[in-house]
Amino acid sequence: MAVDQIAKCPHCHYVFNAAEGIDRKNIDETPKDGDYSLCINCGRYSIFASNTHDGLRPLTEAEKIEAFHDSYLRGIWESWRVVTKNRRSKMT
Ligand SMILES: [Zn+2]
Repeated sequence: MAVDQIAKCPHCHYVFNAAEGIDRKNIDETPKDGDYSLCINCGRYSIFASNTHDGLRPLTEAEKIEAFHDSYLRGIWESWRVVTKNRRSKMT
């Protein structure tokens, strides 16, 4: 279920007014701190972090590696890429 949640992408500064959980463990639930977020505008991942001004933070180097090698997260990103046909975007 999508929930009202204001956050701003730390990469492209796109402002979200709704979010939906994509974590395989709590799909369809309200995203919580530490969950991955895929920006529908630029296609880059960030992490929900309520202690930040914009509600999201960039991935750490370790999280970038984890996301790149995680077939579930990569599959979501590939789906986004197909839908947007934006083949030059970076995943993390
Ligand atoms: Zn973005």
